[in-house]
Formats: sequence, structure tokens, C-alpha cells
Amino acid sequence: MKDFDYIIVGAGSAGCVLANRLSADPNNRVLLLEAGGRDSNPFLRMPLAFLRVFMRPELNWGYWTEPEPNAGNRRLPLPRGKLLGGSSSTNGMVYARGHPRDFDDWRDMGLPGWGFADVLPYFKRSEANWRGETDYHGGSGPLTVSRHRSDAIILPRLVRAAEAFGWKATDDFHAASTEGIGLPDFTIDRRGRRASTAAAFLRPAERRTNLAVKTSAVATRLLIEKSRIVGVEYAKAGALHRVRSGREVILAGGTYNSPHLLMLSGIGPADELREAGVVPVHDLPGVGRNLQEHAIAGLAWDASGPIAFESHLRFDRMTLSVLKWALFGTGIASRLPVTAMAFYKTRPELDRPDIKGNFYPTIMDSRLWFPLLRQGRGHVLSMFNLLLRPQSRGWVRLKSADPAVHPRIRLNLLAESRDIEVLRDATRMIRELFEISPLRDLVRKEVMPGGQVRTNQEIDDWVRATVVIAQHPVGTCKMGVGEDAVVDAQLKLRGMEGLRVADASVMPVIVGANTNAPVIMIAEKASDMILG
Ligand SMILES: Cc1cc2nc3c(=O)[nH]c(=O)nc-3n(C[C@H](O)[C@H](O)[C@H](O)COP(=O)(O)OP(=O)(O)OC[C@H]3O[C@@H](n4cnc5c(N)ncnc54)[C@H](O)[C@@H]3O)c2cc1C
Repeated sequence: MKDFDYIIVGAGSAGCVLANRLSADPNNRVLLLEAGGRDSNPFLRMPLAFLRVFMRPELNWGYWTEPEPNAGNRRLPLPRGKLLGGSSSTNGMVYARGHPRDFDDWRDMGLPGWGFADVLPYFKRSEANWRGETDYHGGSGPLTVSRHRSDAIILPRLVRAAEAFGWKATDDFHAASTEGIGLPDFTIDRRGRRASTAAAFLRPAERRTNLAVKTSAVATRLLIEKSRIVGVEYAKAGALHRVRSGREVILAGGTYNSPHLLMLSGIGPADELREAGVVPVHDLPGVGRNLQEHAIAGLAWDASGPIAFESHLRFDRMTLSVLKWALFGTGIASRLPVTAMAFYKTRPELDRPDIKGNFYPTIMDSRLWFPLLRQGRGHVLSMFNLLLRPQSRGWVRLKSADPAVHPRIRLNLLAESRDIEVLRDATRMIRELFEISPLRDLVRKEVMPGGQVRTNQEIDDWVRATVVIAQHPVGTCKMGVGEDAVVDAQLKLRGMEGLRVADASVMPVIVGANTNAPVIMIAEKASDMILG
């Protein structure tokens, strides 16, 4: 059995940050275990190829929900990156942090040190934002956050219509005001490559002799002596290995895998563990509970002319774009086809936006085309409403004592009536927005859900039948103070020594934004807490 000071389980968004920060001191011997392989597939680096990579079986854990009772009993895919960089190597690269009050709420739940003023320095430390150093942004951190380039036809008309609708145009969602319509920032580097945490944080640290990185190494169990976690058992190349941690094990396996590994190790709701054939070591009822996810409902319109992304999807043009990206790191393959993003309120009395809207000059089922050989989808504009503050809660449960068997996962999407009401109101609002000139002139006809879907019941039925998710799951190792908390404000496992959890699973309440940047912040802060 080999010894390390720190063992990090999972080289994802959080794990790569932790590996960098903890190994910065050459006296710390750090081991990073990653179940997946290296992030060497070239399509991972190309921003436009995002939709091609995130479901690939060799890069993804391949989880699915149980049938979702309030979403047409459908089973929804839950892609999670299984490679260096984790989900930051396969995600949509939008950089967003959450509303300042989201973090103040965490602090007010009895979690000192997690208010916005406390976490802002960690967001800034990680970031090299294109705006440079400002009150709200970091200018020299490892993670490049780049300026988005949109199009010249749709964007100005959309913004004019939105202003007439009462929204403000903003050039920074992370400054004094966090509401309005504008361009998203992206974690894409200056050469037009994806800035995953593997590229930004791990690569610069990998040369350090005090950092060992093991890929294709699946942690199967935590090693426990009395009430202390002292190491990790992992499987690699058909053999089981054991490693000891002199100081701490840091669990960074993500929202589905961190609770799974705890439960496989006997830490979790005792009854459930017994049912699955695991002897409970520490009854911790909150493990796997409190699962939260952003539900999404979309609308789409046929465009009135050849104004949308469809033109770029002609096979020969796309080939040239990919070549241009490979040679110069520029052009449409170096970015995502997003027109704009909006954070808005469905009711004026709310204290912060409850919907994030993404406007696209295309839609998911668009495809490459070529005259006479293959037809395209046609010019289409779409808009997807993301429910920022869902009230529904789901779970991750142990199915078997065998680590290779996936846990059961249910999001309980739209279980709370308020969630569907907000998506319904948002759908109506966006329909009104698209009635306003000059945006109205860009579209011919609503094709999704379509004019026949009008009443509350019709809209609700349609949302339940088509709802998808943002792939922002959080909350299953909740940070908190009550009986349902899994870790405390220091991210230490409640009731045992030697282990912290530092990944998306610790968020007590989901932030009102995408989750990669907040997870990176959590890992930055965790590293300071660990190093004291
Ligand atoms: C398709 C998709 C699109 C997304 N789009 C965006 C976006 O545009 N913007 C945004 O901000 N967020 C986005 N997200 C969400 C964001 O990427 C995640 O919230 C974030 O990456 C989670 O970080 P994490 O460290 O908790 O987990 P992960 O990054 O998933 O890392 C967990 C790591 O642990 C490894 N691991 C797990 N179990 C074990 C084990 N037993 N042994 C060894 N290793 C293990 C995994 O293989 C993985 O590498 C998206 C996610 C997905 C999947």
C-alpha cells in the first residue's frame, strides 16, 4: 500500500483544481485518481463539436434517470464526463456563476464563509477574464474566459425587441447588475480551444514530481479504520489497489458518483444500504438526497429568410471552418452557435431572475447538409428557458454493493407545481417577445410547441412531454448544519474524520446559473481550507 498526503477521487471540474492547488507545495504528496482516460480526442478541444462529444460512451458514465413520473414517465440521459477534466471536458462551456444572493442564502443557512463576498475572491482567483482584472473578474487566473462573438443580423434585432419588452441590455452578467440580455462568456482559450479544468489547472501541474495522476483507476471503496477514512481502494487494469492518505481523502466524483462511493463504503441511509447488501458503517441519511437540476423547456420558429446558422452547416463550408479552426483557432468552429443569453424574472416582484433564456440561431436536430445529397433542417431560431430555482428534489440510491452497477437516479423533475408554472409563464413571455418588431420580422411561424398549444393545460402537457435538463445536477452531499447535511461548512464529512467532499454535490441549493464556475470556486475554496 502506497502513501500520499492527499488522495483526490475524480479529476473533474473540482478534482483538477484541487490537484493543482494541493500539489503547489512540493512537500505535499498528492494522488489524483480518475476513472476515465486522458482527454486526447481532438473533438474535445473544438467548441463547436460539443454536441458530438458529450454523449460518447467512451467519454461518459452513461447514466439515465429512472422513469420520471412528472415528465411523461420518460427516462432522461444524464451524461457525465468520464475522463481528465470530467464534465468540464464535455460541457457547453458557458461561464456563469449564479446570483450573489444565491451564495448569501448559503451563508444564511448557517454556513459561514459561503456568502457572496466570501466566494467572490475564489471566482476571481480561478479566472483570466477577457475584461482583465475588475471588481468582479480575475485577470490572471488559470481559466481563460473569453468574449463571445454573435451574429450581426439576429442579435441587434433581438436586443431591440427585448428592450421594448422591458429587459435591459447588459455587457456583463457578473457585474453590479445580474439581470438582462447580453452575450454569455465562455471557457474557451485564446487559441479557440475548450478551457477544461484539465487543460487549465491539471496540465500545468502534471510535471510536478509530487503529483501522481492515475487514469482508468476507478475508486471502488473508501478504506475506513474506526471513524476515520484512511485511504481508497481502486480498480485498475483488472486488479484492486489500495492507497493510504496521511492527511485527507477528497471526494470530487461529482453529484452522482460522490454519494455512490460513500454508499458503497457503508456511509449513507442505513436501511437503504442494507437493502442493497452493504453493511452500514455510518448512518448518514442525507447521502444521495436533495438532488436538484435545472429543467429546460424550449420554443422554436422557422426563420423568415436564410439568416440562421444553417448556412454554415453546408458540408463543404463546415469542412473549411474546421480546417480554419485547426490552423488558426478562429471562425465558427471556435465558438458555440449562441445568439444571446438572458436572465429574467417571470414576476416583477421577485428579488432575482428565475429563468435563464438561451437564444440560438439553430436547434439541436440541425445537421450537415449538401445540395441534392442531403437535406438540412432549414433556417430555424430557437429559445430555451432554463428554470433557475427548481423546488423539486430528487435522489441517488444504491442499487447494488457491486461498484460496477450504476446507482438509481430520479430527478423528480417538475414534481412541484411551482416549477411547471414558472416554465409556463416563461413560455408565454417569450411568445410575447417574439411578437415584437424587429424580432417578429425574422420569424415566419412558431414550430415548437406550435400555435395549437395555447391553454395552461396544453402548455403544461407539452412541457412535461418535452422537458429536458441542463446537466447541472447538484446537492446529493449537501453542505449544511441539520440532520440531512452530509458535510459541514468546511466540507468535512459529518461524523467521521479524514474526508471532505468538494464538487457539485455539496451545493445545498442549486445556484441560478450554470454550475462549472461555481464548482471551480468550491474547489478553490476547499484547497485553502485544506491547506489551512
Ligand atoms: C453535457 C453537459 C453540458 C454542460 N454545460 C455546462 C455549461 O455550458 N456551463 C457550465 O457551467 N456547466 C455546464 N455543465 C455542468 C458542469 O460541467 C458540471 O456542473 C461540472 O463539471 C461538475 O463538476 P464536478 O467536479 O462536480 O464533476 P465532474 O466534472 O463530472 O467530475 C467528476 C470526475 O470524477 C470522476 N470519477 C467519478 N467517480 C469516480 C471514481 N469512483 N473513481 C475515479 N474517478 C471517478 C469522473 O470520471 C469525473 O472525471 C454541463 C455538464 C454536462 C454534462
